[in-house]
Amino acid sequence: MTARTDERLERTFDKRTATALGKLGLSTVGDLLGHYPRRYADPGALEDIAALQVGEHVTILARVEQATVRPMRNRKGALMEVVVTDGSSRLSLTFFGKHRGSLYNHEKRLVPGAKGLFTGTVGLYRGTRQLTHPDFTLMGEESDLDSDEALLEHATKPIPIYPAAAGIPSWKVQAALRVVLDTLADDDVPDPVPEEVLRRQGLPGRAAALRSLHRPATMEEAYRARHRMRFEEAFVLQAALAQRRARTAAEDATARPSLPSGAPGLLADFDAALPFTLTAGQRAVGEEIAAELAAPRPMHRLLQGEVGSGKTVVALRAMLQVVDAGGQAALLAPTEVLAAQHARTLRALLGPLAEGGTLFGSERSGASTRVALLTGSLGAKARKEALLQAASGEAGIVVGTHALLSEQVQFADLGLVVVDEQHRFGVEQRDALRAKGRVAPHLLVMTATPIPRTVAMTVFGDLETSSLTEVPAGRAGITTVAVPAGNVRWTDRTWARVREEVDAGRRAYVVCARIHPDAPADEPAAGARRAAADFDDVPEFLDLGDGADGGSAAERKPLRAVLEVVEELRARPELQGVEVGVLHGQMAPDQKDAAMARFASGEAPVLVSTTVVEVGVDVPEATAMVIFDADRFGISQLHQLRGRVGRGTDPGLCLLVSDAEPGTPAFARLEAMTRTTDGFELANLDLELRSEGDVLGAAQSGRASSLRLLRVVKDAGIIEEARTAAADVVRASPDLAEFPELAAAIRAQLDEDQEEFLERA
Ligand code: ADP
Ligand code: MG
Repeated sequence: MTARTDERLERTFDKRTATALGKLGLSTVGDLLGHYPRRYADPGALEDIAALQVGEHVTILARVEQATVRPMRNRKGALMEVVVTDGSSRLSLTFFGKHRGSLYNHEKRLVPGAKGLFTGTVGLYRGTRQLTHPDFTLMGEESDLDSDEALLEHATKPIPIYPAAAGIPSWKVQAALRVVLDTLADDDVPDPVPEEVLRRQGLPGRAAALRSLHRPATMEEAYRARHRMRFEEAFVLQAALAQRRARTAAEDATARPSLPSGAPGLLADFDAALPFTLTAGQRAVGEEIAAELAAPRPMHRLLQGEVGSGKTVVALRAMLQVVDAGGQAALLAPTEVLAAQHARTLRALLGPLAEGGTLFGSERSGASTRVALLTGSLGAKARKEALLQAASGEAGIVVGTHALLSEQVQFADLGLVVVDEQHRFGVEQRDALRAKGRVAPHLLVMTATPIPRTVAMTVFGDLETSSLTEVPAGRAGITTVAVPAGNVRWTDRTWARVREEVDAGRRAYVVCARIHPDAPADEPAAGARRAAADFDDVPEFLDLGDGADGGSAAERKPLRAVLEVVEELRARPELQGVEVGVLHGQMAPDQKDAAMARFASGEAPVLVSTTVVEVGVDVPEATAMVIFDADRFGISQLHQLRGRVGRGTDPGLCLLVSDAEPGTPAFARLEAMTRTTDGFELANLDLELRSEGDVLGAAQSGRASSLRLLRVVKDAGIIEEARTAAADVVRASPDLAEFPELAAAIRAQLDEDQEEFLERA
């Protein structure tokens, strides 16, 4: 039996209507029912024209007497004036259009004699009352609006306003929905939410909710229906995640217990050589992870920790435990710079422990292993060697970028996958890596981007979470100052400060939003965004003049560019005798490595770079950071960037250079940055300042997503309730055999939409 909702719109409507609806992306009855009103127009009070007061929001029942369209006198555009009467008084309605054609639909409908309801706020023009752009419903355009009585009854109801497209205005959508709803039986609409759950939550069934959404008698009814659909969205998603968790829990993994205490091993040697003591948080999380690795079920853990909280050490210790137990560990990093740094750090930390030796087989020579590095731009020879080390097991630890996901990469016995800075990786990529183990490897995901609880629950619902809340003792803190661009005194002072840091043996980053001065403003994003194997140089929330903060890209001053700024700095008197380095994503990997190494060693203590230094880069001597066009970056990105300085015992200084005007969201972001270094506080602020679409990734806005009404931040309560209800249902019927509608909804939504949504987020 196919549901009525799967029926093609061509079967119900004439070809023109079906084609027009198709322009909205609607092809089935179910699609049409899922095309929710964007908002509802409040009908206001039903009034006689004679009684209308200026400023009142009203609905009148009236007949069109005359309608005229003419070009506007003093500017471009057309104006339509319609005179309506209720039998005793007259009122004029005005509509403006970009040109005559854009008023065509109104002209066709508002012909003399047409009768209907007109809703709007009463205004005054040259002493005469009028309604500008009223919403209206005409008699006869909808099947049951065939009498004054029917219209009057209708006049009290909220008017649904639909997202429209050219050729299919809101009222046509409304009319089409009426046709469908008039003949819609409850059984026509499969409901993914089981009856039992509906009853306990006190929610209406799906068909009833759809009727209420599209034809509410009152606003309350519309709100109730919206609530029910939000719950459904949360419920379907949470059920999918609960199933995923259940499947994972049923999977087998190889237990990788730590060696008995006192026994020689890499981890023991490493701990003994550690130049600092672990924080209490690092120890606690470490024990949690050690216990999970020792179990024959795959660990699935998200490790959240403030920038600089020392997540790497925690991950490294987990990796060594696995290597000690005879397995291999893979560390997946989002950029080449970061992967190379991790490999360097690991080799340095392991010291003689990383000198090599075969772990598997009889030649195992005491406690040592190799760290292999695998990135997309490795030369053929180096690549072959790394692949061999991974496949033979000679390398107990393999560090890499997306290149690790390639099919050619094989492991002798992959026991643990660590994903650093999760926000750049998706579920699919995680799964691709996990699939490389003979049995499911353990998984540890690390992120410094504080994720609000509800987002974690929604997006990372299949991971357990631990947090590192304290930063290692002895950090001196960071001072952040917003610096107005183009102010000569401030600029001079900025470089003088940088010079002071350099003279004291410290280092400074200078960050720019793009590489080439003459390229268009969106150059760093172009191409690099998805095509490249690594995500270097991709400013995540770079506001490329979409107007949100006022002013188009064309009006704004061009962004400062790495290659231009480096020349400028080399010429500045304050920086004479100081070597200024360059780093950006278009450089060859060995050049990047060299630039990082020269910066780290202090040979080139000033580094002009793109956001390629954003995540994870660790140079303890770096104390100063100057960020140009800081207003163009999102809060989380600024926070990440700022986290690169003040990692040692010397205080950090972060200068945010921008020409943001007070009162703009961009200014508010910078202001927040100067006020606090608390990542969680900043993340919450960020959510307030950004729209929902940004939170879940840009992919949300343009396309029909399965999350249409649900807002992960605002609807935290709904998500929690849905999560509990979904867990109950999945426990009762793990394969959802008893809940075929739910199973179908999960398939339909998760297969396409959700995977992408999870990935982008
Ligand atoms: P993040 O959590 O941002 O990835 P890292 O792991 O890069 O942080 O650690 C930041 C710096 O702090 C590194 O230089 C690391 O060696 C150092 N570190 C880590 N743990 C401690 C500790 N317990 N005491 C002192 N320094 C530490
Ligand atoms: Mg890190």
